Formats: sequence, structure tokens, C-alpha cells
Amino acid sequence: MEWFRKKKEPLVRQTKKEIPDGLWTKCKSCGEVIYGRELEQRLWVCPACGYHFRIRYNQYIELLLDDGKLEEFDASLTSRDPLNFKDRISYTERIRKSQAKTGLKDAIVCGIGRIGGRTISFGVMDFAFVGGSMGSVVGEKVARAIERSLERKIPLVLVCCSGGARMQEGIFSLMQMAKTGVLLSELKAERIPYIAVLTNPTTAGVTASYASLGDVIIAEPHAQLGFAGPRVIRQTIGQELPEGFQSSEFFLEHGFLDAVCPRRDLRHTVSLLIEYLCGPTSGVHETLKAPAPES
Ligand SMILES: [Zn+2]
Repeated sequence: MEWFRKKKEPLVRQTKKEIPDGLWTKCKSCGEVIYGRELEQRLWVCPACGYHFRIRYNQYIELLLDDGKLEEFDASLTSRDPLNFKDRISYTERIRKSQAKTGLKDAIVCGIGRIGGRTISFGVMDFAFVGGSMGSVVGEKVARAIERSLERKIPLVLVCCSGGARMQEGIFSLMQMAKTGVLLSELKAERIPYIAVLTNPTTAGVTASYASLGDVIIAEPHAQLGFAGPRVIRQTIGQELPEGFQSSEFFLEHGFLDAVCPRRDLRHTVSLLIEYLCGPTSGVHETLKAPAPES
């Protein structure tokens, strides 16, 4: 019969709607699915639970600095491989791959920018480059950022995000802790303010050096902060750790932080802090000054 030979059509024509990558993002904390543009408008903070997504160095530059502009210094500094280190791949290869992936030469970008009209020496780490680890390049660039503060007598602001010292450089990375610490003590002697902004995560050798040496230390909410990881501490002391251990809020409660500051308030907070510590600039902060008494 004819209808047996009839070409079969599916009963329901399935049209699978493709969702382009990156259009929707799922919150890692509460599972909320957020529209990409909305997430961007909210500075990559979950509208449902306030989770702060990790963002890149250029997004912090845009967020914090006037006109989103940084005059970058030392952009071409790159790591050598002093220990001929090799794990799964050689250190040289790891650096090369990270450079290709991130477009950076190493895990920090430093330079001169302005915030609230005030010129500052600025540095921002990027976790995307070998976990934001501090090797000799990161240490040297932080040291030079501090020296620029000293030479020009301008405040220093460092946005930290790091898994710690870079193990592939062994003692060379650990030496950066002392180097940056000594220079920060010079900054302190000159009474030039340094504000450390800690983001998720700031741990190990970076916490144990310049991240904890700010005149004012502020952190984004729910950032993981600490020295050793919780598992190592638990095994070492043989005790269960308190809830929320190693979070910004826990650090604030225990006196390691001066403030927990949501991302939307970061620029204003850092700007105000600089003004409090340096005195107001002319013009830019006119609105923040007390009104002149009426004659
Ligand atoms: Zn959420």
C-alpha cells in the first residue's frame, strides 16, 4: 500500500535551541543561573546570594581606576627557570602556556593610575596566570611598584589574588616575601599610605608578606584568605576547624582585616581611604569636604 512507502516525518519536529557559551552563568555558591549581561552590570556579583565571581586584572583596572586607565610599567618582565623545574610539564613550558592563555607575561600588572583624581602606584594580580603565584617576577614588580611610590611620594594600592609563592622557583619565590616586606617598611617610614585589597583567594606566601602589610587591609566578601589550606591545618593540629574559617568575615572578626567591602563599593572606599590618609585633593573631592560656614 502506498502509505507504507510514505516518507516518515517525526511527530514532533525538535528544534534544539542553542545557548551560546557565556550567555548564562551558574553561580558557584547558590546555583542561580544569571544572564551574562546582568552579571556584568552587577560587577560579576551574584544577585541572589552576593557571591563574588573571580574577575581578571583588566576588570579591576576598569573598576577601580579613573577612566579605567593604567600606565603600565615593567610589562615585559618574564620568569626564568633557575631550578630547571619539571612536574607534568617543564616550568618554561608552563610559563609559555600561561602567557599564551592570559596575554600576560606574569601574574601581576603594575603601573601608575589615578583614583578619585589622585595619582597612585597600582598593582593587580591575576589568578589566571599560574594561580596568581608569586615568583621572582611578581616579587620584582611589586618591589618596583613600591619604589615608584617612594620616588614619587604617591600612595600604593595592591589588589591581591594568589595561591601563594610559586613552588617552581623554590627559594627564589620565598625571597620575594623579604624583599617586598623590607621595601614596605621604607614606605611606612616615609609615611606613604599603602592599601591592600584582598580578593578570592589570597593565601600562603602573599598573605604572609605584602597582602598583610597594608596600612589598611580590606577584602571582598567571602574571599578565601589564609596561609596554609584548611586540610593541612586540620591534619597538623588534629582538630576540626570553626565554621567559615579562612573567610574575609572570619578574618575581620579576628582582627586581621580592617573592612570587608563589596565590589560595588571598592572604588569609593579606596578613594576615601586615600583621601583620609593623604588629605583631600583640590577639586575632585570638593563634594566630600564639609560645607564652608555661611558668612
Ligand atoms: Zn549565588
